[in-house]
Amino acid sequence: MRKALALLLPGAVAGWLLRGQIAVAVTKKALPKRISADPVAALPDGLHIAICGSGSPIPDEQRGNPCTAVIVDQKIYMIDAGEQASETFNRMQLRPDQIQAVLLTHFHSDHIGGLGSVTLQRWVANAATTKLRVLGPVGVDRVVNGYNEAYALDNSYRTAHHGESIAPSATAGMVAEPFEFEPGETSKVVLEDGGLVITAFEVDHSPATPAVGYRFDYKGRSIVVSGDTVYTQSLVDAAQGADLLVHDALSADLLKLVENASREAGFENRAQILVDVTDYHATPAQAADAARDAGVGALAMTHVIPPLPIKALEGPYLGDAKERFTGPLWIASDGDLYSLPVGGRTVERSSLFASGPLS
Ligand SMILES: [Zn+2]
Ligand SMILES: [Zn+2]
Repeated sequence: MRKALALLLPGAVAGWLLRGQIAVAVTKKALPKRISADPVAALPDGLHIAICGSGSPIPDEQRGNPCTAVIVDQKIYMIDAGEQASETFNRMQLRPDQIQAVLLTHFHSDHIGGLGSVTLQRWVANAATTKLRVLGPVGVDRVVNGYNEAYALDNSYRTAHHGESIAPSATAGMVAEPFEFEPGETSKVVLEDGGLVITAFEVDHSPATPAVGYRFDYKGRSIVVSGDTVYTQSLVDAAQGADLLVHDALSADLLKLVENASREAGFENRAQILVDVTDYHATPAQAADAARDAGVGALAMTHVIPPLPIKALEGPYLGDAKERFTGPLWIASDGDLYSLPVGGRTVERSSLFASGPLS
C-alpha cells in the first residue's frame, strides 16, 4: 500500500503543478482583455441603465443591495450604492472612473452601504481629478461627512504609500450636494449635462423621509427610477410617458412564507420586521399599476423582496402584474443592461456579466 502511494504521489504532484501552470497561462492571456474592457464605449447614443444591485437588505445570494447605473454619452450616473455595488460594477466590466455622480434616493443602509468602496475605486482607478459628487435630499451631507471621516485615515495612508500623482489627496472622498423641494413642489431638476436632464421627485417611503426617485431625459428617451416607495401619485406624475420605469417591488404573499417560518423558528423579532416592511414598498401589482397609470413603455422590477432562489418563484412573485401592465415587464437581475437608443422607442435587455476565464 505504502509503495503504491509512493508511486502515485509524484504523478499527482506533477498533475497539480501542470494545472497550476495552465491556470497561470490562461490568466496571462485573458488579463489584458479583461483590464482594458470598456463596454460603455460600444454602446450606441442613447440612455442605458445597468443593474448593479437588484436586491434588498434581506441577504440574497443572487442579488446585491440596491444600485442602478444610468449610462449616457460615455458617462455614468449611479443611483444608490448598496453593499456589493463595487463588486457587481466590476463584474459588469464598468469603469469606476466614468462615474460622474452618485444620486441617493434616501438613506436606508441598503442604499448607502457600498458608497465607501465605490468612492475609493473611482478615486484610484485613474487618479480622479474631482471628488465624487453625491446628490440627494437633505441629509446627504450627514452621510457624506460620515463616510469622509471614516475613510480619512485610509485615504491618507494610500496617498502616503502611492504618492500624490497616483492617489491625490485633494480629490479623495466625496462632496455632498443636497437639494430640497420648495413648498408645494414635488419635483425639480437637480442636474443638467449636455442633453441630459435629471429630475428628482418625491416618493412615499415613510418613516424614511425625505425619499425621492429620479427621472432621466436625454434626446427624447427617458428612464425613471422609483427608489423605495409605495404606489404614489407624485411618481405617476413624474413618470408620465417614460420609456422605462424601474420600480421597487415586494411580494407580500411570498414574504408571508418567510415571516411564518421565522415565527415558527422562534425569531419573533425578525418576523415582525418582515410584517413592518410591507407598508412602505410597492407590491409587484402596485408597481404594475404605477407603470400603467404613468403610461410608460416598459417596466423592470427591482429591490426584489423576498429573494427568489428558485426561478419558478418568479410567477408567484409577479402575481397578476402582467395583467395590470401589458407592456414589456421584467424582474431585474444583477448585471442587466437595458438600452434605449436615440431615435427609437425600444427597450432592449441584455447582460453585462462577462463570460470567460476571469469572469
Ligand atoms: Zn428604503
Ligand atoms: Zn431599500
